[in-house]
Amino acid sequence: MTIDKRFESLFHSRVQFQGRERQVELRVPAFGEIFALVLESQHRTPERMSVMFPAEFKRLIKSLGENSVGIEHARALYADAQAAGQIVAARNRLFETLAEQGLLYAQCPHCLNWEAEVSIVALTVALQAGPWPIIDGRMFLAVPSLSSRLPRGIRPAGVPGTSRVRFDLPSSVFRLTTPIRSGTLGAADRNNGTSERAAWARWVTSREVGISGREQWREDVPGFRAALRLAVALEHLQGIEGEITPEVVLDMLSVDFYFLDNLHYLVHNVDLQNDKKASINCEACGLPFLLIVD
Ligand SMILES: [Zn+2]
Repeated sequence: MTIDKRFESLFHSRVQFQGRERQVELRVPAFGEIFALVLESQHRTPERMSVMFPAEFKRLIKSLGENSVGIEHARALYADAQAAGQIVAARNRLFETLAEQGLLYAQCPHCLNWEAEVSIVALTVALQAGPWPIIDGRMFLAVPSLSSRLPRGIRPAGVPGTSRVRFDLPSSVFRLTTPIRSGTLGAADRNNGTSERAAWARWVTSREVGISGREQWREDVPGFRAALRLAVALEHLQGIEGEITPEVVLDMLSVDFYFLDNLHYLVHNVDLQNDKKASINCEACGLPFLLIVD
């Protein structure tokens, strides 16, 4: 693997486990590996979390000392409060740092000839909002913004929004090998939700119940709702010919998914506090536009 040196340390941590300090190497799971582990807060009972956390640890930990981590090991780690806390902290750092490495290219709506390049951190600062959390209470995988239809953000009249939201995924920045590097993002709620309803009919309702591996493709699974809605919102992904299916989204790295979930929230749902900070003058035609969508 050729991970950018700046990010390499995020993948390595140490835990106190069974009386010894051990090296832990983490990996970034695909969103498809963890989406079913995302629970709404009222469902996070100790009983369910004692199943969910070991399942997550197993997918997250590449090695513990010399060993890979099976489910028994993962359960023992979760039962050890100190070790579990250290792994959760390392996971939070890994996911949150990597997910903010993506870039936005906002197209000028006046001339369509220029794009403003903005980091997700700079966009967050400009909007004085967000980011949408990846982790709740420093513990739990948060419910993504795309799991529900959020109201459109308030926009002041005058300056028009960007005409196209293009992006580079975080994995293309920190150089984890993935086939998809960039694309363009539209709105999950476009056509008043018709596109989303069509996607449910197409990918879930009309299919035979019980297709192997798709047991969690359900409306009551918040991580799946978010994956399906992201498939609807994505207009284009480099390297994907034809339709963007829920499978394409579930195959993405979780940090790429979380970047897009946050980007969708920032450009569509955040109320604009200060249009001066969130707008830019086009370097081709000189006219101002917002870095987010109208
Ligand atoms: Zn322009």
